[in-house]
Amino acid sequence: MTDRTPYIDRVWHEGRADADVRAVSGFFGRIAGSPAADATRDYLLAELRSIGLGTVRTIPFPYEGFMPRSGALATTVGGLRRELACTALPNSPSLARTSLEVVDLGRGTPEDFAAAGERVRGRAVLVTHEFPFSTGHVHRWVKYREAKERGAALFLIANNNRGVGPVVGSSGRNQPDDIPALGLSYEAGRELARQSAFETVVVDAEVLTERRAWTGENVVLEIPGQTEEWVVLSAHYDGHAVSENALDNGSGLAVALDTARLLAADVGGWRRGLRVMFFTFEEWGLSGSKAYVESLTPQERTAISVDLNLDTVVGHPQLNALTGANASVEALVRRVSNATGVPIIPVRPVRSNSDHYNFQEAGIPALRLIAGYEEPETSLTRFLLTPSDTLDMIDPVQLKTAAIVTAALVHEAATGPRVER
Ligand SMILES: [Zn+2]
Repeated sequence: MTDRTPYIDRVWHEGRADADVRAVSGFFGRIAGSPAADATRDYLLAELRSIGLGTVRTIPFPYEGFMPRSGALATTVGGLRRELACTALPNSPSLARTSLEVVDLGRGTPEDFAAAGERVRGRAVLVTHEFPFSTGHVHRWVKYREAKERGAALFLIANNNRGVGPVVGSSGRNQPDDIPALGLSYEAGRELARQSAFETVVVDAEVLTERRAWTGENVVLEIPGQTEEWVVLSAHYDGHAVSENALDNGSGLAVALDTARLLAADVGGWRRGLRVMFFTFEEWGLSGSKAYVESLTPQERTAISVDLNLDTVVGHPQLNALTGANASVEALVRRVSNATGVPIIPVRPVRSNSDHYNFQEAGIPALRLIAGYEEPETSLTRFLLTPSDTLDMIDPVQLKTAAIVTAALVHEAATGPRVER
């Protein structure tokens, strides 16, 4: 692409992503399967239909899991009982009120678990959440699996950010041996860790969740191009119960909607069509996109040139693309950096932190656009999965920048060279 992208002016002056992010953040706590998530789905459907081009539909899929209801955690030190701030995690089984010894494993790396050995068995294991958008971090799922495999009775994960309440995030994967899990505030985690330095700490714990079966609905807009090929533009619309989910993923939803509106009328003249997809149950093991990708025939997979997945595209001025080290995806990203003047820094290791992963796993080129990768100190994305993922975190200029980059990515992916496998 040697020409400048034709969309900078249009996105800057006509884009309405700020209104969209405000609207979806208003559906507070849109955890999949909740009325707020259904309202978000309906908003997205209405907005896509109002474009008046292509076909809009939902693709249903079954999902079964544990909906979090409540959690309770208390310690008694010197005869004084203290309630600690916590929340039940999605897909945690219930735990009837019980007393458990705490084992504090600090960060909770596989090495920490190996060193603790049998001390974990039958106890409540305490670990720390980490900034997830860093190649060196140890994901919650790894810590949870270690705790489960070593026979822990309860998984406690404490926020790494002070003053923002308990951290959330799904725990189990619907395995019969899943263990109960609570997210704790930073302060609750520190209190348990400090007491553990003096004596054996016993907590009084309870986890209430409800086994449910849902029909998830992925939302799709398809506008055909000149050939059978497609560019997928995706963003997940589910979130967590504790926040407005403004960054994650109100920002991605708003930018995808904006892009669809502003580019729709041009798509018919392009080589490849535009398939906008809003996935759900992303926060539950990427289940919506997994169901979708698994449903595709080999021909349908081949017809997808690339998936451009938007997840948390605001929160830091730096944009990154998780490319899974696909050189052709990186060439696309570089052409768009040049066309827009916005640097998009590639991150090469395969990361299973959003829906692009299921495309990559199926051999379909994909990227995740994300703000502030490897910026744990300065990126507001450190507040994801906490009550502080709020609308005031959305910087309007960052939102515009992400929308300009996305419009250019879609245009170039649809009209430029096919992205190679
Ligand atoms: Zn997300």
